Amino acid sequence: MSSYDYDLFVIGGGSGGVRTARVAASLGKRVAIAEEYRYGGTCVIRGCVPKKLFVYASQFHEHFEDAEGFGWTVGESSFNWKKLVAAKDAEIARLEGLYKKGLAGANAEILETRAELVDAHTVRLAKTGQTVTAKTIVIATGGRPNPHVALPGHEFCISSNEAFHLEELPKSIVIAGGGYIAVEFANIFHGLGVETTLIYRGAEILSRFDEDLRRGLHEAMVAKGIRILCHDTLQKVSKGEGGLTLETMNNGTLQAGVVLLALGRDPNTEGLGLEAAGVAVDERGAIIVDDYSRTNVENIYALGDVTNRVQLTPVAIHEAMCFIETEYKNNPTRPDYELIPTAVFSQPEIGTVGLAEEEAGKRYGELEVYRAQFRPLKATLSGRAERMIMKLIVDAASRKVVGAHILGHDAGEMAQLLGITLKAGCTKDDFDQTMALHPTAAEELVTMYAPSYRIREGKRV
Ligand code: NDP
Repeated sequence: MSSYDYDLFVIGGGSGGVRTARVAASLGKRVAIAEEYRYGGTCVIRGCVPKKLFVYASQFHEHFEDAEGFGWTVGESSFNWKKLVAAKDAEIARLEGLYKKGLAGANAEILETRAELVDAHTVRLAKTGQTVTAKTIVIATGGRPNPHVALPGHEFCISSNEAFHLEELPKSIVIAGGGYIAVEFANIFHGLGVETTLIYRGAEILSRFDEDLRRGLHEAMVAKGIRILCHDTLQKVSKGEGGLTLETMNNGTLQAGVVLLALGRDPNTEGLGLEAAGVAVDERGAIIVDDYSRTNVENIYALGDVTNRVQLTPVAIHEAMCFIETEYKNNPTRPDYELIPTAVFSQPEIGTVGLAEEEAGKRYGELEVYRAQFRPLKATLSGRAERMIMKLIVDAASRKVVGAHILGHDAGEMAQLLGITLKAGCTKDDFDQTMALHPTAAEELVTMYAPSYRIREGKRV
């Protein structure tokens, strides 16, 4: 028996931390986990899960409108923000309970306190001041919204954290940023009836996605009534009687009830005692780790958003499982970051896996691009002017599908399954040999027989 209080101490009760602690404890290790806020972390408490519930809520007005085309007469409808927030909170509390139950069931000790490193094997529990020791420490403290302190008046703005608990639904909102959070919340608030403006510094929203989808989504959002101001930034926010006044660089003055900053997330490393323990961080404050999530201190690992590798829940969970293999199963395992499927829960939705056309053009000498743009069947009777886009990027030499991109209903669901096919190394011929499932939107993925165009040496031919 080691002389430490625990075999493993995990700091942070989010997706990565909870998975680490639960699995290690189930292997018979003596484990403690500390969380200063709520178990479940960003994803469950104020991220992916409540966001998706809000996305569902924001889609109903379109469902009601669409119903008419199918013969329904929908009576007067109204929306109650407080009721949605309360229902969401109840579900999140239930999920938090399940996370704790899983930990307790595996015999991990659950500590509801902030924990800080004192040295490489010692942790101080902030609530009691008590110190405990552990053979191995995993830091999984996640991240927090970038507060953009350089913006005069940033203190009048909210982040996604507060967006989940607004007292009232505002009449108008300005959202700064062009990434996942900005785009998803712009669609949520617009869907709930809020006059919505998105302000983004770049030429087109969602900078890391395929150009076709970015443009397609932009057009669809504008057609719905969301105002999108590209090539612009907020210069100043001030608070007056009637709400907030915003000075922009290129679009003059805007007024808004609420300003939401969605400008990326910073790693949660401040005041963690990293210096005392000798753990190195990069210039953004993210913990530096090797290929196995080990820090420069032999017995301390870090995983999830605090390492700023890929800020996604399933990635943090995967890193946790790799840590378990490496540390407790004598099977050193590197997290695999190739072909991560991802979705933006905008309306229409984006689902994607693999390389965007531009990126693929830089890596492969010749590409075949298969592209379909069509009106989904449901939109025929609903009369909704919407188009789906589906796109496969194929390396002409190996015939491998190296990118798959979808804009439209259930794009995220499709991207999850496409992730399997790309991971398995499927070729375009495998897609061609797959029977279509009719009538679905996804059948387009296996019926695009001729390339729409080719890319040679990065140029469209
Ligand atoms: P993103 O990195 O997606 O986007 C940040 C946005 O802010 C970019 O448009 C960026 O512009 C812009 N930006 C950054 N700094 C500034 C600045 N100083 N002034 C003006 N604009 C700025 O971050 P998010 O905050 O949207 O989300 C954080 C992370 O959370 C994401 O990376 C994602 O991994 C994860 N997430 C995933 C979701 C999902 O899977 N559906 C949903 C929500 C979040 P530019 O593009 O020019 O750099």
